[in-house]
Amino acid sequence: MAKGAQELVFAPLGGVGEIGMNLSIYGLGPERRRQWMAVDLGVSFAAEENLPGVHLILPDIRYLEEERRNLAGIVLTHAHEDHFGALIDLWPRLKVPVFATPFSAALLKAKCEGEPGAPQIPVTVVPLGGRFDVGPFDVELVTMTHSIPESNALIIRTPLGTLLHTGDWKLDARPILNDHTDEKKLRALGDEGCLALIGDSTNAVREGRSPSESDVAATIAELIRSAPARVAVTTFASNVGRLRAVADAARAAGREVVVVGRAMDRIVQIARETGYFDGVQYFRSVDAYGYLPRDKVVALCTGSQGEPRAALSRISADQHPDVTLSKGDLVIYSARMIPGNEKAIGRVINGLVEQGVEVVTDRTHLVHVSGHPRRDELKDLIGWVRSTILLPVHGEAVHMAEHAALARDLGIKEVIRCRNGDLVRLAPDVRIIDEVPAGRFYKDGALIIDAQARTVADRRRLSFAGAISVALALTDKGALAADPEIDLIGIPENDRDGVPMSDVVHDAVLETFESLPRPRRRDPDSVSEAVRRGIRSAVAQRWGKKPMCHVHVLPV
Ligand SMILES: [Zn+2]
Ligand SMILES: [Zn+2]
Repeated sequence: MAKGAQELVFAPLGGVGEIGMNLSIYGLGPERRRQWMAVDLGVSFAAEENLPGVHLILPDIRYLEEERRNLAGIVLTHAHEDHFGALIDLWPRLKVPVFATPFSAALLKAKCEGEPGAPQIPVTVVPLGGRFDVGPFDVELVTMTHSIPESNALIIRTPLGTLLHTGDWKLDARPILNDHTDEKKLRALGDEGCLALIGDSTNAVREGRSPSESDVAATIAELIRSAPARVAVTTFASNVGRLRAVADAARAAGREVVVVGRAMDRIVQIARETGYFDGVQYFRSVDAYGYLPRDKVVALCTGSQGEPRAALSRISADQHPDVTLSKGDLVIYSARMIPGNEKAIGRVINGLVEQGVEVVTDRTHLVHVSGHPRRDELKDLIGWVRSTILLPVHGEAVHMAEHAALARDLGIKEVIRCRNGDLVRLAPDVRIIDEVPAGRFYKDGALIIDAQARTVADRRRLSFAGAISVALALTDKGALAADPEIDLIGIPENDRDGVPMSDVVHDAVLETFESLPRPRRRDPDSVSEAVRRGIRSAVAQRWGKKPMCHVHVLPV
């Protein structure tokens, strides 16, 4: 291709080959003078065992930092953590305009207010279905049904072609919030001509169509209606449609709703402010719980993922200051188990069952439905839009492969499978042309660290095999000035024969030192390295594990 020619490119910097941490960028212009627009800036949640001390994983945005001056803005599709959760930590490095619809903007604002030291992020609030410019990109929002209010697909119009970035979506003939996927606009896009569809693959392995949110509501209503005593429901706080269904079910059964958990309080307030709770009765605060008769209450609880400090976990451990459950009560588990959280969730459910509480999950009742499209819904969208190119995103490898195969079966000409960091040219021709830096950052306490750094790997090694620290005082003649100082951290006290491990280390230090030729004993680095190896091998022989080992040689 001619140098300096106009190109339209796409690169995922997160969210491809994984579920979570979504960040996509679109670029327009000649190779060295591209202007960019980013879509979403999300996080993933780390399972504690794999990354000790790390709770959040964020996309590595070094490439965007470099291109900051050419980045016209970030458009949020919706306010799920995997799409907007990294803004507070990473926006200060970019300081570009952020575009969001009212509910997402309100949620971001509340999140910033709830987090000490969070930046003031100026948000340009755009209306549902609105059309606006982000640099050279003409962006139009398309309302999509999902498991949070205001999920938007983006129609991105450029002189080189029009794209559809679906965001997270599903089709539902009877959504609780009446937020139907805008089929008309999507069909019109098909008539206008769509170059590429960049789409949600999460449920591409599932046949058929998702059940309706209204069917879930009916199941929950029946469970609450026939419950003899207290009912607690846990779900993702951001699923406002589901909260509304619980509120309606409680009212129909003559019960009061009590909100338990800060995240739930926050969303309820935002739902009222943004109109999604119009007509919903007022809820009671948590201190009313103890006074309400057992058959007159529904507790709406945080903690569907087994988060240890959330409401349901504390209730299940009988440690909640205001809310208790007991034999005969019912817990409705109206959420999906996010992979990695199974153990924590299992702990919560077992705690409840031990208290004699009945727990209903989606294994036996339709008390939850996913917010992502199954195969027949994907077929509908692909048929409406009829794009030339399709790029599966938002999924693990298996989901994206199924999405790709489906698109090929439906006659899509160019199906491109890419990885995080691949730079895909969409026009004037289609292919992967380059790689841009992509990867992960970890949120470690108050700091953002590079996933490549040794920090977390060291921590994992420490957690597996402990550490030994030794200090040696060395005279300038190459003799030990004193007995070595030895510290063992996380090492067994004795070996199989009852010999203290500190003696094993002590002997290894002296033996190694004495085995060194005299001139080498005067070189602190040489002593340190030899002694370190000696200790590790002596300990490994007795224990079968090699701990981390530090030997400090101090000249005296
Ligand atoms: Zn989502
Ligand atoms: Zn998502």
